[in-house]
Amino acid sequence: MSFEVKIWGARGSMPCTGEAMRRYGGDTSCLELTIGTRRVIVDAGSGLAQLGLAHGSRALTADILLSHAHLDHVQGMPFFGPLYRGDSEIRLWRAEPDPLASLLAPPLSPVTLDLMRGLTAIYIVQAGDVLDLGDGILVRTAALRHPGGALGFRIEADGKSLVTVFDHEPGDPATDEAVLALACNSDLLVVDATFDANDVADTAGWGHGTWEQACDLAGSAGARRLLLFHHDPRKDDAALDGIERAAQDRFSGASCARQGSTIAL
Ligand SMILES: [Zn+2]
Ligand SMILES: [Zn+2]
Repeated sequence: MSFEVKIWGARGSMPCTGEAMRRYGGDTSCLELTIGTRRVIVDAGSGLAQLGLAHGSRALTADILLSHAHLDHVQGMPFFGPLYRGDSEIRLWRAEPDPLASLLAPPLSPVTLDLMRGLTAIYIVQAGDVLDLGDGILVRTAALRHPGGALGFRIEADGKSLVTVFDHEPGDPATDEAVLALACNSDLLVVDATFDANDVADTAGWGHGTWEQACDLAGSAGARRLLLFHHDPRKDDAALDGIERAAQDRFSGASCARQGSTIAL
């Protein structure tokens, strides 16, 4: 069974634009997994709107997994065209609190949830749940260390695995152990690498990790490849090139996630 991931948004915190951001892209968190005939989307940041534009006005069948409710992970929802089609079949998996009740309502939005006729099911997920998406696709979950909470996902199919760890600040032993177990022997590990080790004194408690910590997690977990993700909007392409080179010295399978790129597992 084929298992591919396309990156529609790798930026953290807020979308950004400009020539200096062109290669790694400026849209926020969204991965599209194509597994056989199935489509699984992780997070609904502004990258989801780009996916919708590329897909065109056709109906879509997909499962959307939401890591958490922060705006950079859900802001693409109102602009995702397939949600408004009655012949789409889109299932949403999310933790509490509900990001959509307030996002898709006045005064923040002119559209409301009831207009999303293509949203056929919403499932509430608790950390530790194992989700059976059908067709041999299993999703394991773990709690991450992030203000308000967030879910890490391990999507498994046909002996392959992709693990997402965003948004997450290492440092709590019990959480770190659960994240390590989630990431163990993964084919592709995608990790929050917002900051550098130099930033840590100023950013403790913000709920994000560093590229150094992401590399160390990948090494400890025995991951095959690592994508550094949730790029700080202050980092342009040149800065991310430098981080990628340094990261490869620490974990040889590391690279910075690039919007628009596709990786086959
Ligand atoms: Zn975020
Ligand atoms: Zn967040």
